[in-house]
Amino acid sequence: MEQNPIRIAKILLGLSDVNLLGVEDLDDQGAKIPLRVHIECRGERPKCPLCHGTSYSKGVSLVELIDLPSFGRAVRLIWHKHRWVCRDPKCSAGSFSDQDSRIAAPRLKLTDRAGRWATRVVGRDGRSVSSVARELDCDWHTINDAVIAYGTPLVEDPNRYGKVHALGLDEILFYREGRYRIQHWSTSIVDVKCATLLDVVPGREAKEPKKWIANQPKEWRDAIKWGTLDLAGSYRSVFRAVLPNATMVADPFHVIKIANSRLDEARRRVQQNILGHRGRGGDPLYRIRRLLTMAKENLTENANEKLTHLLELGDPDNEVATTWRAKESLRELYAYRDPKLASDHLDALISDFTDEERPAEVQLLGRTLGEWHDEILAWHKSFVTNGPTESMNNLIKRIKRIAFGMTNFANFRIRALLVAGRPDWTRLATVTPVTTHISGALLS
Ligand SMILES: [Zn+2]
Repeated sequence: MEQNPIRIAKILLGLSDVNLLGVEDLDDQGAKIPLRVHIECRGERPKCPLCHGTSYSKGVSLVELIDLPSFGRAVRLIWHKHRWVCRDPKCSAGSFSDQDSRIAAPRLKLTDRAGRWATRVVGRDGRSVSSVARELDCDWHTINDAVIAYGTPLVEDPNRYGKVHALGLDEILFYREGRYRIQHWSTSIVDVKCATLLDVVPGREAKEPKKWIANQPKEWRDAIKWGTLDLAGSYRSVFRAVLPNATMVADPFHVIKIANSRLDEARRRVQQNILGHRGRGGDPLYRIRRLLTMAKENLTENANEKLTHLLELGDPDNEVATTWRAKESLRELYAYRDPKLASDHLDALISDFTDEERPAEVQLLGRTLGEWHDEILAWHKSFVTNGPTESMNNLIKRIKRIAFGMTNFANFRIRALLVAGRPDWTRLATVTPVTTHISGALLS
């Protein structure tokens, strides 16, 4: 049995050269409050950082650190930090205090051990910051600050990703601000084949992704054969400007999404024309708004009947039905594996959709398909995509879950890269935390 307080500190706290001064339990009312464990650094008194002369103690200040729970309760480590003053009256060092990064990094309110643990469970295991804050009995920012501090060196690791053959750009809604819900967007830069988030840059315009790609080594850029994108012009201009040799591929998920948007517009227009108001609960077209955008083969027999019946009731001129068929025949494009057959199918769709007899929404869809003809067909040569694969969907979902909880872009970026950027987690035990993002007084 160990009875020496220094070795007890080593066993219980994992810290050597530390005196265990005592434990404090203020719980005289029976309320669960954190257990307070008092420690101080021991060993030689430190040399003056300026002249390396001897110093004397000028007193002690107490620093409270949040530690990992023990014995079924939250724990605070109370660090009795000595203040030291240089003995040489001519030296300008002033006073300085104990520093020990094994106990805690400067500015962080968590102990080093708690900071690394929080980073792992939030960043790698996907636990929410608020649940970790509850467990450690502290606030959200304390945990988030620590995750960013230990997570930054993991995501900035130059070896985090290697060469990429298919690069995807996609927009991510990062947060909605204020009572008018102003939308703030960002762009995810993804290794599409490995479903790895390479980076996130602010905005969904061309400027930032262009800058990011241009900053990569030429060798890395030259390895990119395919670039996947949605059907919006800004990412096309990125690829044209900085990756002129990559073949652009319109992401099938986004192509179908556009068809569904046109279908939705047609439904709302017909609804408004016939009923004179926006869709409400009992209106036939409103009742099938979700069935319309589902893939035909996923509809049950009942759903199929409901769709047919309510279209008859609510769509007398077959405009919604025509737009629905346009969407379904566009989906068939992705059943083709042969580029020539796919090309013939797409050309037939474009000429059919742009016929002026078609509803306005179908004509618009036809024009969009014409404008993105080559990029859409490139999929049949590359088979790379941002969307339909399971792992890419999971990746996007993981990033989005974080996006909606964050308001600071730099912090959002680190958190997103921790969960979706495949950092090397074996490095967590040894990285030096980066605390420059933490405002407020330096704990000294
Ligand atoms: Zn000195």
